[in-house]
Amino acid sequence: MAERLLDVKGLKTYFFTDEGVVRAVDGVDLYINKGETLGVVGESGSGKSVTALSIMRLIPTPPGRIVEGTITYSGKSLLDLPPAKMRKIRGKEISMIFQEPMTSLNPVFTVGEQIAEAIRLHEGLGRRDAMDKTVEMLKIVHMANAERRVKEYPHQLSGGMRQRVMIAMALSCSPNLLIADEPTTALDVTIQAQILELLNELKAKLGMAILLITHDMGVIAETAQRVDVMYGAQVVEEAAVTELFKEPLHPYTQGLLRSIPRIDLAATKKQKLEAIPGTVPTLRGDIKPGCRFAPRCPFVMQDSGWPSSLPQRWLGDSNSRSGRGRSARIIRGCSSTPTPGRP
Ligand code: ADP
Ligand code: MG
Repeated sequence: MAERLLDVKGLKTYFFTDEGVVRAVDGVDLYINKGETLGVVGESGSGKSVTALSIMRLIPTPPGRIVEGTITYSGKSLLDLPPAKMRKIRGKEISMIFQEPMTSLNPVFTVGEQIAEAIRLHEGLGRRDAMDKTVEMLKIVHMANAERRVKEYPHQLSGGMRQRVMIAMALSCSPNLLIADEPTTALDVTIQAQILELLNELKAKLGMAILLITHDMGVIAETAQRVDVMYGAQVVEEAAVTELFKEPLHPYTQGLLRSIPRIDLAATKKQKLEAIPGTVPTLRGDIKPGCRFAPRCPFVMQDSGWPSSLPQRWLGDSNSRSGRGRSARIIRGCSSTPTPGRP
């Protein structure tokens, strides 16, 4: 059986602001096996970044706080670690890269100095050895002219090259888990494809696991083995990627899949691209019980707020595992037994 690297259970991260409580992550369960890529997908504002920052224990406190749940990494409870131990894990075992590398790089130091600094910090190497390793890391991420690039400043590099620098920095301490939060969103499609290919290659070569966050189902198809679909601060569906694309069960997942452009169909104009009508729920203040997607769900009966025509196989307890001879699938929200007064 695949070995669990990270296990997140019942995670709740709230922000206590003057305008009220923001339930940014509201009961998230997810896991990552050693060496696999888990995709986390959902529209903007569904709690993906806050989930990642919670795992890294980088939630700004105040106003934020992890109020409930457990995060277990390699058998260790991350939420119970003292700050010094957590700092060691961050960077040495779990690294994170962000959407916009320009904001994570310091404009007044060369990229070489910045990567070397990270290496020196984690590996205790001398200045010279650290710079040699820096050049080596830039070659691993396929940076052309690595020897010259180390002497350049972030603004002298293109967006794609800056993202390669960030990846090199994140990999410099050989993490077991790389968290990539929308790593290609700020890049154009050709460069995006190159970066995704690089992540796939590095994962195969270095054997690390990747938690890849994106709002783009296309990115999931290119990289992940398994996927968690997030909506309204919760995971609403979890499945192997092949199964999810073949048979999405949650109406929200179906909506996301219908909104991916397909070049083959676009050419013949047979495909109608559908955006999901409505907007993601605000996570501020009280949240109605029941399925959070109900206000936008095409299957909801207009007045009752409950599903009208869901295929039989969807119907079951919420959070049920519907095996049907394949690997277990988890969906949350859809329920066959409306409780009076809900949602
Ligand atoms: P995603 O990454 O899926 O786009 P986020 O995880 O960034 O979404 O945000 C989830 C929710 O948490 C949003 O409603 C966002 O406004 C809120 N949030 C994130 N950071 C803060 C913060 N520092 N203070 C208050 N609310 C926040
Ligand atoms: Mg985000």
